[in-house]
Amino acid sequence: MSEQLIRALLLALLTALIALPVGYFVAQWAGWSVFCAGLALQMVFHFRNFARLERWSKAPVVDGNLEGEGSWDGIFGRLYRHEKDLREQIAKRDKEIAMLIEAGQALTDGVVLLDQNNHILFCNTTAETQLALVIRTDRGQPIVNLVRQPEFVHYLQEADFSRPLTLRSDRSEDRVLSIYMIPYAGDRRLMQIKDVTQTDRLDRMRRDFVANVSHELRTPLTVLAGFLETLQEIELDRDERQRYLGMMSEQSTRMEMIVQDLLTLSSIESAPPPQNDIVDMANLIDKLRRDAEGLSHGRHTIIAETDGRGDLSGAEPELVSAFGNLVANAVRYTPPGGTVRISWHANAQGAEFAVQDSGIGIDPKHIPRLTERFYRVDRGRSRDAGGTGLGLAIVKHSLSRHQAQLEIKSTPGVGSRFAAHFPANRIVGL
Ligand code: ADP
Repeated sequence: MSEQLIRALLLALLTALIALPVGYFVAQWAGWSVFCAGLALQMVFHFRNFARLERWSKAPVVDGNLEGEGSWDGIFGRLYRHEKDLREQIAKRDKEIAMLIEAGQALTDGVVLLDQNNHILFCNTTAETQLALVIRTDRGQPIVNLVRQPEFVHYLQEADFSRPLTLRSDRSEDRVLSIYMIPYAGDRRLMQIKDVTQTDRLDRMRRDFVANVSHELRTPLTVLAGFLETLQEIELDRDERQRYLGMMSEQSTRMEMIVQDLLTLSSIESAPPPQNDIVDMANLIDKLRRDAEGLSHGRHTIIAETDGRGDLSGAEPELVSAFGNLVANAVRYTPPGGTVRISWHANAQGAEFAVQDSGIGIDPKHIPRLTERFYRVDRGRSRDAGGTGLGLAIVKHSLSRHQAQLEIKSTPGVGSRFAAHFPANRIVGL
């Protein structure tokens, strides 16, 4: 029997014990009146506390105390502590959930949680960017309504998640995503999205590189083999023989140049950090101007521009080769009558070496790929101009080894500007 009930019965008994002598000695009605008044007082007391409990249960507050009277105090105290414990547990869980969500947000991979019908339950900010989702409005939406590429829809329908899906973003063609579907909590799915743009690009570059080297070397080799066959099979007079030998020599020089550039590239790639020669920039700019004039044979106006301030600290042969390639390209891709401007400017913040030309220019879509090996805007034009397609790859590698950035600005038909930006710690003698 509950403590509360025993107390109530005892109080009723006590009231009866007081009422009995009154009824016996005074009058029966007086005894009943005392008994009823006692019970009524008890009821008022209980109703008061009950009403208090009712009020509190509608809006339980744990920062203000819930106080009861008499035997109610113990009940209220236990209820209050229970409510307080519950709230503390909920707050702790909320904190843990918030931390888990924060961890999900911090992931560099995109994460989308889907229910059994492929409706979105949650996604982190990386996934929002990758798939153009907005969780605030997209929660509860079927994912196929928002990621509509047929290959993705097919992947979900097939439900064979043993291999990831490679998806090219429909917003930016350059972005490649790899999607893994991982089952969890029975029939729910966790979509993990990796941005593999860089790996995909490197893979493509490697494939292109092998194909390009083979192609670049095969062309002069085939020509050489053809000439050799002709020389072996056909009697030629002395002049014709000389002409054939001259053309063969041209092809072998071409092959030599390609192999030389490949060796330069691979030696730059595997070399230890560049030693710190002091490169006299005023001298180098002058030499580059003379080289440009030699290449141009007077067909261009060559301008060298420097205030003579600051020299570079780095591997001189690499820097000379990088700058030389930029100057040679400017002359090569500028029609006769054009201008090539070579400049060097340094200050305490850093320095810029730039080559600007008024040449054929480059369509913006080619610019991000120009420094890839063998990437050429116009293969025929480059070959005719004596290019190997490796010049800018060498430039980029040499510059990045000196913590310099290559900036390319170009307008087709107007000209190009290739600028190398060096950090302050590479500049000496200011
Ligand atoms: P290449 O040996 O073919 O010149 P590079 O790597 O030096 O190879 O340059 C890559 C491509 O970039 C060139 O084939 C050419 O299409 C383009 N290019 C480089 N420099 C210039 C320039 N100054 N003006 C126009 N196009 C340029």
